[in-house]
Amino acid sequence: MDKLKRYEDWKFRMSAYDMALSIINIDKMTVAPAAGASYRDPRTAYLAGESFAIMTDPDMIPVLDAIVDDPEVDEDTRKEAATYAREIRKIQAVPKEEYVAFEEATNASYDAWLEAKNASDYSIFEPHLREMVERRRKLIEYRESTLPVYDQLLDDYEPGTSIEFYDQFFEVLKERLVPLIHRVVQAEPIEDSFLYQSFPVNEQKAWTTEVLLPYLGFAPSWGYQNETEHPFTSWTCENDCRTTTKYLEDNVISSIFSTIHEVGHAWYEHNIDPRYDGAILSTGVSSGMHESQSRFCENYLGRSLPFWQANYPSLQACFPSQLAGIPIEQFVQAVNSSRPSLIRTEADELTYPLHILIRYELEKGLFDGSIPFEQLESAWNELYERYLGVIVPNSRSGILQDVHWSDASFGYFPTYALGSAFAAQFYHQMRSDLDVDVALQEGRYTDCIDWLKTHVQQYGARYQADEIMKMATGEPFRPEYYLDYLEEKYSSLYHL
Ligand code: ZN
Repeated sequence: MDKLKRYEDWKFRMSAYDMALSIINIDKMTVAPAAGASYRDPRTAYLAGESFAIMTDPDMIPVLDAIVDDPEVDEDTRKEAATYAREIRKIQAVPKEEYVAFEEATNASYDAWLEAKNASDYSIFEPHLREMVERRRKLIEYRESTLPVYDQLLDDYEPGTSIEFYDQFFEVLKERLVPLIHRVVQAEPIEDSFLYQSFPVNEQKAWTTEVLLPYLGFAPSWGYQNETEHPFTSWTCENDCRTTTKYLEDNVISSIFSTIHEVGHAWYEHNIDPRYDGAILSTGVSSGMHESQSRFCENYLGRSLPFWQANYPSLQACFPSQLAGIPIEQFVQAVNSSRPSLIRTEADELTYPLHILIRYELEKGLFDGSIPFEQLESAWNELYERYLGVIVPNSRSGILQDVHWSDASFGYFPTYALGSAFAAQFYHQMRSDLDVDVALQEGRYTDCIDWLKTHVQQYGARYQADEIMKMATGEPFRPEYYLDYLEEKYSSLYHL
């Protein structure tokens, strides 16, 4: 068979499994009854094994290599085939049974994490965490690379990064942010208690559906929002992007900003050139780049005065007894207020990167053996006190708050902080290309999205993150944009 025909057929079969697994996972995370997990999980793991077997079919590597080397084949296809070949070489030495066992253990680990979190008891989750680290390590050790496992994990989520890269990045952050946070803590606090009155969930939902989602341009023809414990976004193709949010009755902004964030992820996937659909380039180029798009929407656009000039009147109308007496300036100050806290997903923009730094240091310690599993929780609590000055009262609001370790996503957290920093550099450039404030005020939020589409999103994984950064902003990534932005914003907000 012609190599391109064979290649297309192989991609199609894989994409069918990927689609099924993605939908099954969304279902598991949102509405699937928990008691059915023991039936579903082994079957899901079987499907993952089949998909893995197709992906690592030994006959495909020569086909991919032939495509990469054929100058008659178009550049995009050659790049795509090269990307597949690189990913397959990472995993092809892993025995299929090992991979299926990993998938099964992951499902069990997620269920245990949920149980542990509900019981606020780390000891329920600890054996699973240990197993996840060991299994992840074993899968990585099948590769030919001699780099430390955690370096390889960092590079998987953010190609080109390493422990050395992140050590430097977090050092620069720590140097400027820790003193800044200290000054903010000493400053006169911003009054924001009005955000935490009772806001009936049904009314929040109605406002989100009728006002916020349309303003964000999240159209039902390609997107759908559900509810879940831990908001996330998932997708199968350009025109099927799912997000979730979580409504809290005593916090009107939690679901608003998680919605803006997740819809930011959905926009990225939706805006990737559809010619890459169903293949490896049809995804954000890296986790950090994905997070840069969602944080851009959430913080740089969503927390700005112009954004609320368009949206605050309707929010006030929806909650007259709670917000009628609150002027917009006060509302916007309140949604930007900073206070060291316990929960990463609820953290403000300024203290957020320190939540990530803590997770980075703990993951490094787990993988180099310097932090034993049984001491992880006390190490967590200690770092929260050291960097953020907060005392962790229980496991639920401490070590068990995040889902990531339950599915072995080690090395993922650092990309959150990196993404925020990428976003600052894009924001700086976007403001010189576009009148962002007027666009937001006039309800043209999607003008900003179009800028992101043109400069970042359309490419999917066609270029590396550093190439995209250079093409979009004319220079390599520089964390100074992020630190300057935070210093300027919080100095002005707190009159420092
Ligand atoms: Zn995100």
